Amino acid sequence: MAVRDADFKRMAELLKLGASMLNESCPECKVPLFKLKEDVFCPLCNRKFILVRSDEELIKTTADLSLRILEKIAVSKLEELGDLVSATTNPDKQFELVSLISMWLDVLGKLRNLTSRKG
Ligand SMILES: [Zn+2]
Repeated sequence: MAVRDADFKRMAELLKLGASMLNESCPECKVPLFKLKEDVFCPLCNRKFILVRSDEELIKTTADLSLRILEKIAVSKLEELGDLVSATTNPDKQFELVSLISMWLDVLGKLRNLTSRKG
């Protein structure tokens, strides 16, 4: 893929914003990746990257990401269930929903324990 003037401009702007250019490059666009604050990304396709230095770090990072995704799911389930509880007046239904909420809260608590323990 050829780098166009606009792309160079974008890269220059990123540098002005305080981004740094890394030695690693985007496997798609073959241009150097940029790092701005905690984000590492390709200035052309905007894909985000996570740089790891070892296999061990890769495993840790992957596990971490999975946990974070699960945490997001748990939170959105809790939101959904909360809406359902407030919408129903049927005690049986409420009981069922509250049991589910309690289950998801358990999951969330375990996930938060796992993510806060590392590092
Ligand atoms: Zn790219």
